[in-house]
Amino acid sequence: MVLERLQKVIAEAGIASRRKAEKMISEGRVTVDGNVVTKLGTKVDTFSNITVDGEPIERESLHTYLFYKPRGVVSTANDDKGRKTVVDYFKDLPYRLYPIGRLDYDTSGLLLMTNDGELANLLMHPRNNVAKVYVAKISGILTPDEISQLKHGVKIDRHRCAPARVKVIRTDRKKNNQIVQLTIHEGQYHQVKRMFKAVHHQVEKLAREKYAFLTLDSLISGTYRELSHEEVDRLK
Ligand code: URA
Repeated sequence: MVLERLQKVIAEAGIASRRKAEKMISEGRVTVDGNVVTKLGTKVDTFSNITVDGEPIERESLHTYLFYKPRGVVSTANDDKGRKTVVDYFKDLPYRLYPIGRLDYDTSGLLLMTNDGELANLLMHPRNNVAKVYVAKISGILTPDEISQLKHGVKIDRHRCAPARVKVIRTDRKKNNQIVQLTIHEGQYHQVKRMFKAVHHQVEKLAREKYAFLTLDSLISGTYRELSHEEVDRLK
């Protein structure tokens, strides 16, 4: 969730300069979700209802994009190593978008980008069990027992994963590797890589091809399309 200082949000809505917005807050003219707020620096999120002198302020309109994240890009707004970030792809848009969840630097595929804090919170909540479909190239070949372990829920550290769907797409016995489709409903840190590691296989390449009902369709790596209102509603 993106939290911002109240005076900044008021200024960005074009009501007043930051300095004047601070004065308005101190004077008790600003409410957040129905309560008068006089403390400067109070943090609000993208769906807080804010009024100034009893008038609701207009917030940014809400937009959600389906992005085909390339490999070699970080899923954060800033990177201390100066690497390319997913936000860089949206620089020309007039909204500040942020990713819903994360894909690793070396993972490609479907990533939702939004400025809709409510949607982001909903989808990132641990209890939200949206299906995510990954395709992994792994070293070695899964045994029937390992497939069964993945299906029933392997243990990564102290976390017992929820049951996963496992589908072997291709087996290359000569090169000793396999392409496996894995469907999970959780989003632990490095979850897919750790699930395969739990059954002694290394992920060599990873891509996310589906998120809930959304797929990349004809998008090419590094491009995006905006979701329709209907699609956003279906995600909620
Ligand atoms: N699981 C991982 O290990 N990496 C990702 O990027 C996504 C899921």
